[in-house]
Amino acid sequence: MEEIYDLLILGGGPGAMTAGIYAKRAGLKVAIIEKSVPGGAVTTTYEVANYPGFIKISGMDLANKMFEHVSSLGVEFIWDEVSKVLPEGEEKVVECYSGKKYLAKAIILGFGASVRKLNLENERSFIGKGISYCATCDGALFKDKTVAVFGGGNTALEDCYYLSNIAKKVYLIHRRDEFRADDILVKQVKSKDNIELVLNCVVTKLTGEKTLSEIEVTNKLTQETKNLNVDCLFVCIGRGPDTEMVQGNLNLSQNGYIITDECMRTNFDGVFAVGDIRETPLRQIVTACSDGAIAATKAFEYLKNLRLKNQEKK
Ligand code: NAP
Repeated sequence: MEEIYDLLILGGGPGAMTAGIYAKRAGLKVAIIEKSVPGGAVTTTYEVANYPGFIKISGMDLANKMFEHVSSLGVEFIWDEVSKVLPEGEEKVVECYSGKKYLAKAIILGFGASVRKLNLENERSFIGKGISYCATCDGALFKDKTVAVFGGGNTALEDCYYLSNIAKKVYLIHRRDEFRADDILVKQVKSKDNIELVLNCVVTKLTGEKTLSEIEVTNKLTQETKNLNVDCLFVCIGRGPDTEMVQGNLNLSQNGYIITDECMRTNFDGVFAVGDIRETPLRQIVTACSDGAIAATKAFEYLKNLRLKNQEKK
C-alpha cells in the first residue's frame, strides 16, 4: 500500500519551507516537493534588505539558511516536478512528471508564480542568447556591455541597479513614467550615471542574427519608435501564478491567483495555499513565511478534526 503523508507541501519557496518547519514541529508526517532549488523566486533576488534579522543578505544565502533550518528538523524533500494535483476528497493525490504518485490527507500549494514573458514572436529563440529573466543568474556575463531592463517594479529596479555595477550602460524601459518599485530603489537607480530611463515605452521588436543585438521600443503616448543596441534584455515585468496543475474548480481571482481565507484555506477541504500563488495585497518573503506558519497550523487543526470525525464514524 502506498504511504500516506499527513501533509504534502508543493513548492519549496519561503512560505513552503516555513510551513515545513511548523508542520514538523507539530509532529506531522510531512514532505516538501520541489522541482529545482529550494527558495523559489528568492534565489534570483540579488539582495534582500527587508527581511528582519538580516540587514542585507543575498537571496540565495537566505534561501540556503531556510533550507538548512527545515532540513535540520528532518523534513523530507522530494525532488520532483508536480504534473497534476487532485484536491478533492479526504485523500489528495499528487502526480509528478517522474511518474511517481504521492498521497496526502492535506496539501499546501506553494508553487509561486513564474516570470511573465514579452510574448513577442521570436522571444523564445533569444532565451539565453540575449534575453534573460534573471539578472542575478546572467548579469555577470555582461561585464562592460550594454544591457536593458524592462519593467518598473522592485525586481526591475533592483536588477537595474545591480547591472549598473557590472555593465557599461543600462537602459531602464518602463511603460509608465512612474515606478511601482519602492522609493528607495528608485532613488538608487536615479543616482547612477550609467542608467538611462526610457519611460512610457514598451519593447515591441527583437532583432539579431544568432544573438540579440537590437530592440525596438515604442512610446505609448506618441507611438514613436526607436532602436536601442543592446547585448541583453532583462525582462522583469512581473510574474503570473502557477495553478494550471491543480484540477477542479479552485476559486481564483480575476488575475488567476488562488483565493484563500485568512487561514490560508482554499475552497477544497484540507487544501491550503501560501505565498505568491495566493491572492494577497503584498507579496514579500516575510508575508510568504507568515502564510506558511498559518497554513501549517491550520492544516494541523484540520487533520486533528478529520481524525476525530473518522473515529466517531467507526
Ligand atoms: P511587479 O511588482 O508586479 O511589477 C511588474 C512591473 O512590470 C510593473 O512595473 C508593471 O508595470 C510592469 N509590467 C507588467 N506587465 C507588463 C507588460 N505586459 N508589459 C510591460 N510592463 C509590464 O513584479 P516584480 O517587480 O517582479 O515584483 C513581484 C513582487 O515581488 C512584488 O510584490 C515586489 O514588491 C516583490 N519584490 C520584492 C523585492 C524586495 O523587497 N527586495 C524584490 C523583488 C520583488 P505597471 O507598474 O505599469 O503595472
